Amino acid sequence: MADYVLAIDQGTTSSRAIIFDSSGSIVSTGQKEHEQIFPKAGWVEHDAEEIWTNVRDVVGQALGRASLQAKDIAAIGITNQRETAVVWDKNTGKPVYNAIVWQDTRTQKICDRLAGDVGAEKYKAKVGLPLATYFAGPKVVWILENVEGAREKAEAGDLLAGTMDTWVLWNMTGGADGGVHVTDVTNASRTLLMDLETLDWDASIAADMGIPLSMLPEIRSSAEVYGKDREGGLLAGVPIAGILGDQQAATFGQACFEVGMAKNTYGTGNFMLMNTGTEIVPSKNGLLTTVCYKIGDAPAVYALEGSIAVTGSLVQWLRDNLKVISAAPEIEALASTVDDNGGAYFVPAFSGLFAPYWRGDARGALVGLTRYVTIGHIARAALEATAFQTAEVLEAMNADSGVELTELKVDGGMIANEVLMQFQADVLGVDVVRPKVAETTALGAAYAAGIAVGFWSGEQDVIDNWAEDRRWTPEMKGEERDRLMRNWKKAVTKTFDWVD
Ligand code: ADP
Repeated sequence: MADYVLAIDQGTTSSRAIIFDSSGSIVSTGQKEHEQIFPKAGWVEHDAEEIWTNVRDVVGQALGRASLQAKDIAAIGITNQRETAVVWDKNTGKPVYNAIVWQDTRTQKICDRLAGDVGAEKYKAKVGLPLATYFAGPKVVWILENVEGAREKAEAGDLLAGTMDTWVLWNMTGGADGGVHVTDVTNASRTLLMDLETLDWDASIAADMGIPLSMLPEIRSSAEVYGKDREGGLLAGVPIAGILGDQQAATFGQACFEVGMAKNTYGTGNFMLMNTGTEIVPSKNGLLTTVCYKIGDAPAVYALEGSIAVTGSLVQWLRDNLKVISAAPEIEALASTVDDNGGAYFVPAFSGLFAPYWRGDARGALVGLTRYVTIGHIARAALEATAFQTAEVLEAMNADSGVELTELKVDGGMIANEVLMQFQADVLGVDVVRPKVAETTALGAAYAAGIAVGFWSGEQDVIDNWAEDRRWTPEMKGEERDRLMRNWKKAVTKTFDWVD
C-alpha cells in the first residue's frame, strides 16, 4: 500500500504540491508562482497554460525532494483558488482567453444587466450568492460575449468551461485525449449557477446568462474517484479522488465538522466559513451560503461564508506598488515601530467591498491622516484592516447563525504575523488558535482524496490528527475595541460611490 497522499493546491499567487503521510504531516512540497496579469484597472488574469505547466512542475519537485514515485502515492486531491474561470477548446485544449481571476471586476455591467429590476439578490434563494463580479458564471458570460468566435464555438459544443480544479483535472486525466470534465459541489456552488438543494446546474439561470449547459462540467461530490493521472504523467495511474475549493478545503483540514465550528483563512483575501450542517442557512447579514463539502454519497454539508477580497494582497500592494517593504513579512517590523495606528485607517476596497457590504462601487481609502502619521502607522493600519474586516464578518456570522463563536481557528500566509494575530484576538474578543499544520488547504484536499480511497477511514482521523500550535488571547479593553470598530466603520463609509 502506498504510504502518502499528494495534494495539488492551485492558489491565486502560486501552485503547490504537498505530500502528506498518514499522520497528516508534510513530507515534501513543491511551489511555483505564476504571473499576475493586470491589463486594465480592475482586471486580473492568469495564463491557464502557465498554471498547468507549473502544476506539473511542482508535482515533480515534491516527488523528487522526497525521492518518491507514483507507486508511493495512494491518491491525489485538488484544491484551488475558487471562482477563477477559464474557457477552452475541447479539441485543442487551448484556452480561448486568459483565466479571469476571482478579484476581477470587469463583469459589473453583466451583473447589473442580469440583476435588472429584481436586484442583486435575484438568484440568491437558489444559489446562496448575490450577483457580484466575484463569482464564476458572469466571467464565462464575459468571455462568450467578448472573445471573437467564442459564442459560435460554444453553441457548436466545442468549448468547455471550468474553474481551476476542472482545468487541472481535465488536463491531468488526458486533456483533449479523453480528459474528464468534472467539478465538485463546492466549486460549483461559487458559479451562481448551481442550485444548493439539487446540487445540479440550474437550467433557467444558465439560460438567463446565455451559457450553454454543454460547456459546464458534471458536478460530483468532493471525495470520490474522478479519474486517474494520464499515461506518461508523473503520477500515471494514481486516482484523483478529492476536489474542494480552497476555503472549503481549509475548513475540512481544520476539522470543522460540527455545526457552529468555523475557521478563518488569511491569504490574498480572507475567508471565514462556519459549518451549518445539512441545513441551508440563508444570510440576512451579507454572508454567502455555500456548500462546505460532500463526502461521496453522504449528504452535502453547508456553510455560511464571509469573504473579504483584500487582506494579504494589501501587504503585497505596499511591497510592489509603494515599495515600502521588500518582502511581506517585513511589514511586522515596520508596524512594530509604532504603538498604534496614529489615527489612520486603511480600507483596501481595491475590488469593491465583499462581505458584509457587497459594494462594487467602493474603492480604497486611507483616512484619518495628519502630519503625525508615519509609514509605521500606515503599515499598522494595513494590518489592522485585515482584523477589522474579519471582526465585521464575525459579527455577521454570529447574527446569521445564532451561535456566538468562542474561538477562531486560523490559517494562511498572514498568520505568521504575531502583531496581527494579537490585534485580531483583541478586536474580536475571542481566542485565536493556530494549528500545527498551517497548510490546512492542501491538507483538507489530501484528506478528501485519502478518505475516498480508504487511506484514511473518515473524519475521525482528521480530528485525531489536528493539533494546536499557538493561541492568542484578547488583552484589549472593551471600550478601546468599541472605539476602534466605530472609527473603522466610519472609514468604510468613505469608500462608497467611487465608480462612475
Ligand atoms: P494564497 O493562498 O491566497 O496565495 P497565502 O496563504 O500563501 O496566500 O498567503 C500569502 C499572503 O500573505 C500574501 O498576500 C502576503 O502578502 C501575505 N503575507 C505573507 N507573510 C506575511 C506576514 N508575515 N505578514 C503579513 N502578511 C503576510
